[in-house]
Amino acid sequence: MRIDILTALPSLLDSYFNDSILRRAQEKGSAEVHIHDLRTFSEDKHKRVDDYPFGGGAGMVMTLAPIHKAISFLKAERTYDEVIYMSPDGELLDQPLANRLSTLGNLIILCGHYKGVDERVREHLITREVSIGNYVLSGGELPAAVLSDAIIRLLPGVLGDATSALSDSFQDGLVAPPAYTRPEVYGEWAVPKVLMSGHEARIQEWRYQQAVQRTRERRPDLPGLHGMGVE
Ligand code: SAH
Repeated sequence: MRIDILTALPSLLDSYFNDSILRRAQEKGSAEVHIHDLRTFSEDKHKRVDDYPFGGGAGMVMTLAPIHKAISFLKAERTYDEVIYMSPDGELLDQPLANRLSTLGNLIILCGHYKGVDERVREHLITREVSIGNYVLSGGELPAAVLSDAIIRLLPGVLGDATSALSDSFQDGLVAPPAYTRPEVYGEWAVPKVLMSGHEARIQEWRYQQAVQRTRERRPDLPGLHGMGVE
């Protein structure tokens, strides 16, 4: 999979993609992430990518031309499955959406800033809008990193244990069961005995029951309690 991110602040994204699982995914060839500075597509002599809003009001608006040029430049090289704009009023990111996007080939992700982008970008260039939650951040870079991480960790070969992404919270419509590691006893705090029993079926059953109980307590809205997994 290839992800091209368009941003006015590329340095905000560099460190995130050059470390952690996301770097490993790129080294292994599972994912390619390219970060593009929108300013390089600006023909303004000061390389500006924003301007005052028509009709007045507070805040700057990201201009159409550099975004259009950047997207056209990328589309001339290859076809893209989606051109995504990170936006607080977009479709809420959840695990099923991350799963679906992880099956695609090439994605463009546009990060907004200031008051957002000129509406004509959204009307004519964007195919999908994604929000990471009902709150407003100052830029689309963290949301783009969140979305990319949620997608890339699902790609084959990225996580060490092939089944581990599937056993995360939300994949079966339940939150994850608790996890423990050494030491078995720390002062008075001991690990649940069943985990030390070596009895695989009993351990699986215990984990499932824990996941159901936790989901009931914490996230009764999730579909796993109603006998439905997620697609
Ligand atoms: N005026 C806009 C907010 C702009 S915030 C509004 O009220 O909707 C600046 C940029 O940050 C946005 O263009 C978007 O790219 C990004 N952003 C902020 N909050 C976000 C969220 N919850 N999800 C996705 N992107 C977000």
